[in-house]
Amino acid sequence: MHESRCGVCCNSCERKDKVGCRGCLNMEGPFWGGTCGVKSCCEKNKYDHCGVCPDFPCDMLSNMGKEEGFDPSVRLDKCREWQGQ
Ligand code: SF4
Ligand code: SF4
Repeated sequence: MHESRCGVCCNSCERKDKVGCRGCLNMEGPFWGGTCGVKSCCEKNKYDHCGVCPDFPCDMLSNMGKEEGFDPSVRLDKCREWQGQ
């Protein structure tokens, strides 16, 4: 069962209580109060998560978090897993 649009595992996040996040699927916007392009794109297209998108993995999804030092392949693999690929 998917936990986010982008492949982040919200359920096991250790910071969610601290930052007041109820998880991507349970919130209209991301917890930080701005907008998330991936979440917006996915929900606009009525996809459960990016793994079901015909354009997966698009540039936006593939590059999200790179500048902050996160490895996008972890999220992409999770999307593939949720999609059963
Ligand atoms: S980065 Fe965006 S799509 Fe991913 S969990 Fe956070 S709000 Fe959802
Ligand atoms: S893979 Fe990219 S184009 Fe497809 S829903 Fe996700 S963000 Fe949008």
